[in-house]
Amino acid sequence: MRINCLSCGHRLELDEAYDDFEGPVKCLCGAMLKIRTQEGKLKGISLTMKPHPPRGQAASPDLPGE
Ligand SMILES: [Zn+2]
Repeated sequence: MRINCLSCGHRLELDEAYDDFEGPVKCLCGAMLKIRTQEGKLKGISLTMKPHPPRGQAASPDLPGE
């Protein structure tokens, strides 16, 4: 079964262990997807964590010590 990452669009290959599954799947890009499958079909998918958090804690440059 294949699903597309909602963040980067990467096609994730899931084996048959995921045919009846509900829970998190991690993409290569670092995004966490929550999926729900039944009989090998995707019933629901949502993005639970984006790979890159919104900026806010940008590293501040070192201040000259004067
Ligand atoms: Zn991705």
